[in-house]
Amino acid sequence: MAARIIHFTVNGRPEQAEFPETCPAQDVKDLFRSAAEAGPHDILKLYNPKGNIINISPSLEPDACYTLEVVAADCNSEPLASNGICEEKVYLCDSRLQSLERKLQMEAGETPAVVHEMKKQVDSFREKLEGVEHLSWLGLFKDLSDETHKPSPFYHKRALHKTRKECERVREAFVQMSSLEVSEDVRQYLKTPTFDNWQWEDAEIMVLLQVMYTDLEFISTFNMEPEVLQQFLFEVYRRYNNIPFHNFKHCFCVTQMMYGLIWLTDLRSRMDSMDLLIMLTSALCHDLDHTGYNNAYQINARTELALRYNDISPLENHHCAVAFQILEKAESNIFRNLSVDRYKRIREGIIKCVLATDMMSHNEILIKFKAILPTFDFTNKEHKDVLMMILIKASDVSNEARPLEVAEPWLDCLLQEFYNQSDVEKLEGLPVTPFMDRDKVTKPSAQAGFIRLVLLPLFVELANLFPCLEQHIIDPVRKALDYYTEMEKQNRPESGAQGEDTCGGGHSPPTANQTAEPAAAAQ
Ligand code: 5GP
Ligand code: MN
Repeated sequence: MAARIIHFTVNGRPEQAEFPETCPAQDVKDLFRSAAEAGPHDILKLYNPKGNIINISPSLEPDACYTLEVVAADCNSEPLASNGICEEKVYLCDSRLQSLERKLQMEAGETPAVVHEMKKQVDSFREKLEGVEHLSWLGLFKDLSDETHKPSPFYHKRALHKTRKECERVREAFVQMSSLEVSEDVRQYLKTPTFDNWQWEDAEIMVLLQVMYTDLEFISTFNMEPEVLQQFLFEVYRRYNNIPFHNFKHCFCVTQMMYGLIWLTDLRSRMDSMDLLIMLTSALCHDLDHTGYNNAYQINARTELALRYNDISPLENHHCAVAFQILEKAESNIFRNLSVDRYKRIREGIIKCVLATDMMSHNEILIKFKAILPTFDFTNKEHKDVLMMILIKASDVSNEARPLEVAEPWLDCLLQEFYNQSDVEKLEGLPVTPFMDRDKVTKPSAQAGFIRLVLLPLFVELANLFPCLEQHIIDPVRKALDYYTEMEKQNRPESGAQGEDTCGGGHSPPTANQTAEPAAAAQ
């Protein structure tokens, strides 16, 4: 069969294609598409030596020299879709149009009308996305109620804050309920790690927090006025954002676990009230104004927080600063009747505890704790400081110590927040935090590694000091590990050949840091 050889250039590079004379037109087009390394939606243009655009077909002349160009992605081939792929295309179109425009300006001296038209279409698609609040996670949403809506990758934060109306509604409900007596049964249940947060509304949660301050006798010991405590709790509620995981309910769970640990380990007989007050209040404040993006993101995206805190625990520094902004106001300062020296000690303690929740210092704190364990002394200030950090850290990551029906929805919330962050990282061209990548991480892969490498080593050391935690904390965590290990097995394809392995399985085990808050991702 006679073959035809066609000469052409692509991006200035000489190429030649060979195909049988009877070759179908589509095959010839595919051949040229491969030569240009073009994607399936890219538009190819072939010019003859006179500069006219011609069809790519089997009847091309062997003696001529053609010019092939990849012009732009085909933006019209798919309808507007509210997903990341479509959104990535906006960026792709935009950058391709910009490079095409530059090229044309260099060659022809002016931008042709067709390019202007395509730019208009891309801009209008972007504007549509910018106006859709529920797509704010894409990082494009512009709050148009704000006059100064200058484009910044972080304007979606605004949509996460609680509205005034929502706050007022909860405050009213809380004030009405706060004078009601909470039953003894609930008070006892509140002291256990099996407590189910999902049964309670936000206003009720605030009442439960009030019960904690009352039953630990903080109100009487530290001369707190009930209205000031209520205002403090309300401000704390208000400054947690509406995000999937790091929200007011998470703050409650961490505080409730700290409260449970205080009772379970009979800490009241071993530490003074001031230390307990520091720990409970730190737990309450430890994630204030979290926007759902971790430190790695803050640093990589060079956010205001990363700039303000020079990349050093930007989130934890911020949570703590917000706590003290609340305490700076007399009407919400629960420590306002304490001496300057006592306030200083509380401030120092809260700062230490909240900063300890940065998972970057996980190993360092755990190593310190292990070192002092054999000679642990509750009268030694250094020992006590490390224990307080370990207790808040344990409370912070304690969801898996709760009954499965309480813990599992929390994992869904966490993954929702993780996936959102990695989607935005992809969209903004930032390094993708590996343990948040929806293409790599599943429920069991996230949990099996985290339990084995972070939770158990932490809780086992704590149980060395407080053996009763073996039953109340470690047993449920081991059950959770079995549950997710089994789920991981079920998810794995039989042959083990196809399924892409995620964190934990197959690869060498991640370090605690990689699983929780990888050091590498933060740099
Ligand atoms: P945070 O102070 O942010 O609430 O908790 C510290 C970090 O520990 C979280 O941001 C998250 O990265 C990690 N973490 C907490 N609980 C879990 C969990 O149940 N599973 C996994 N995989 N990570 C968790
Ligand atoms: Mn937390």
